[in-house]
Amino acid sequence: MRQLSKEKQRMRTARSRFQTSIFIATGFLLVACRLSLVATEAAEQPLKVVATLSTFADLVRAIGGDYVAVASIASPRFNPHFIEPKPSDVLKTKRADLLVHAGLDLELWRGPLLDAAGNTALFPGGPGELDLSQGIELLEVPSRAATRAQGDIHLYGNPHYWTDPEHAKQMASAIAEKLTALDPAHEADYRRNLQAFLERLGQKLPEWRSRLAPYQGRELVGDHRAWPYLMRFLGLRMEQHLEPKPGIPPTPQQVQFIEQHIKQHKIPAIVQATYFPRQTADAIAKRTGTSVVLLCQNVGELPACGDYISMIDYNVNQLVEALRSHQ
Ligand SMILES: [Zn+2]
Repeated sequence: MRQLSKEKQRMRTARSRFQTSIFIATGFLLVACRLSLVATEAAEQPLKVVATLSTFADLVRAIGGDYVAVASIASPRFNPHFIEPKPSDVLKTKRADLLVHAGLDLELWRGPLLDAAGNTALFPGGPGELDLSQGIELLEVPSRAATRAQGDIHLYGNPHYWTDPEHAKQMASAIAEKLTALDPAHEADYRRNLQAFLERLGQKLPEWRSRLAPYQGRELVGDHRAWPYLMRFLGLRMEQHLEPKPGIPPTPQQVQFIEQHIKQHKIPAIVQATYFPRQTADAIAKRTGTSVVLLCQNVGELPACGDYISMIDYNVNQLVEALRSHQ
């Protein structure tokens, strides 16, 4: 009896040890599973990208696909030179892996935003900075050093280069290169997306040019010097603007000068962004018979300009329509 009970005791102890080791093993397994889950989640976190303009955000989405989470700061419905970033923009910038911007003096608010966010990786020359003006051949580069004393902007050359679809090739390639540097694991995806974008763009470029072919050399008047790159691409001219200098609102003398210029040269249209105040252009149009054409300077400025390619499509359509009706 005693021996039997001893045997039972031994078996009970053995069972209990076995259960304990199973319990510990299960525990380890659970911890291991949890750790690997956390690691997988971390690996699949998209890159956090902040773009100053909606156009750049659109290009980053086209190249980055599912591997990027993109936010843009300047609403396309406002003048991109004069944006006031919100506290939520500062927070997004603070947490971002990458800041994509126009460079030059396009975003006069970029420096203060970076100072407020304090994310040094995004500072000029940092690993998380992408200045899309790098490598772009700029127009209107001043021959002598200019100052901002009289409120002037465009001190380093015209910063509205993204409106030329030829430049979209360089911008998209620079974005693919930067995303790859920050996230080499998805290099093949970025390369494939870049290729797809360049193919779509490549099909459109000759179409856009040929639609404007009958109007080569025609002159238009602009609001702000935001369009020289698009004009050059399409073979149009734009020498005079409602703003006497970039960033300076139209003065009565300038309005008078523009009216005479339009009459003298039979200018078919005043081209402006949707956010530029309409009154001046409308008043001039009424007095001279010219028309006012609204173009999208950035993606999302109008519903028809939902992405980069549809934005250029829209701008080309608007220009063709205005030129056709004033032949
Ligand atoms: Zn400007």
